[in-house]
Amino acid sequence: MIAIVDADLLGRKKHRFPNLACEKIAGYWRDQGEEVRLIRSFDEIAYCDTFGTVNLIPCEERFAKIYISKVFTDTPVPMWVEKMAQFPQSSDSIIQIGGTGFYFDKALPLPEEIEHHMPDYHLYDGWIAEEKEKAKRLAEATGKEFTEKRFMLQFKEYTDYSIGFLTRGCFRKCPFCINQKYEAVSVHSPLDEFFDESRKKICLLDDNFLGCGLKWKELLKQLIATGRQFKFKQGLDERLLKDEMCELIFSSKYDGDITFAFDKIEDYEKIEEKLKLIQKFQPKKLVKFYVLVGFSKPGKEDIVDAFKRIELLMKYKCLPYIMRYQSKEEAPWKQSEWAGMYVSIARWCNQPNIFKKMSFRQFCQANQELHKSKETMCSSMLAMKKFESLASKEEQRYLDMCFSKQELSV
Ligand code: SF4
Repeated sequence: MIAIVDADLLGRKKHRFPNLACEKIAGYWRDQGEEVRLIRSFDEIAYCDTFGTVNLIPCEERFAKIYISKVFTDTPVPMWVEKMAQFPQSSDSIIQIGGTGFYFDKALPLPEEIEHHMPDYHLYDGWIAEEKEKAKRLAEATGKEFTEKRFMLQFKEYTDYSIGFLTRGCFRKCPFCINQKYEAVSVHSPLDEFFDESRKKICLLDDNFLGCGLKWKELLKQLIATGRQFKFKQGLDERLLKDEMCELIFSSKYDGDITFAFDKIEDYEKIEEKLKLIQKFQPKKLVKFYVLVGFSKPGKEDIVDAFKRIELLMKYKCLPYIMRYQSKEEAPWKQSEWAGMYVSIARWCNQPNIFKKMSFRQFCQANQELHKSKETMCSSMLAMKKFESLASKEEQRYLDMCFSKQELSV
């Protein structure tokens, strides 16, 4: 029996994305005739005694291997797992720990035979069925209506998608990015390695698909030829866009918003040039940009840079999605005196229905109205007032820019 632990599933309450490595490991072992079990609690597999020794929980049929995988660095795991992850495990040790959540850019790849195995897309089925039952029972007990279709939406990444990497790596080496070990983008998996005909959609996890030399076109055409909706979960590199790419992407069955990245203000001109190019193709879909904040030096200047980028995106009717930088060890913006401003800007931008209707000032005023105490200011209003008091006239105008009032720039 093979035990598989998706640590993010256990440690993050609202986590809703399958761990591809876990699915590949499960697929590989099932093909070897092994029974595979998705572990629901660390207590099922081991505990640490008072002497610090890790003891495997005896079970009827001992686990031949226990795989623990984590994608996010801030997902909590038991101390014994943390400790064990500090030492390399040999390939014959029962417990195998891996993933960027433990080792960041030093994470080792899976063995080739597993990496290139068809994922077991049914690894999570049992867990999903349990969650559904729990929700049904809760609805019954509280007299609420249970709508299966609506409830199951949260699991769509588990149930509807084929997931994989057509390419891997990136040549840019952005200092905030995990992809430091790569020098270039290279072709990784053929589509049929992870494409399951029975699944409605395809989700690509490629780091920088458009940076894959001349291959991007052939690969994109293969995706389009499946007739399935597809999306690039990590976003696309807008700085690389060319007419031909726009033509194919904007006329494709793209799944959801088409997302790019606008990580640093230094790219302002380049991004604007490409925003103009995008407009030429009049995308029917919303175009969204990840806007990284809090990396260089959290503070007022960084916030002004974020506003400048948001303003440019607004001008071209694109939506920002604020990503607050978080490294393996820390999230510097959290320690900054501007933490409240980072949180408020993210709450404003990352809720498109609010962002499309309200300026940042209006958003803070709306928060103030909902604030319990009328004598004190809510955290958003406090943060905005502080920014306003230190900002120049030119910078203060960012507080009143509004998506709905922007004329589209062409
Ligand atoms: S372009 Fe994207 S994938 Fe490449 S290094 Fe920068 S952030 Fe990472």
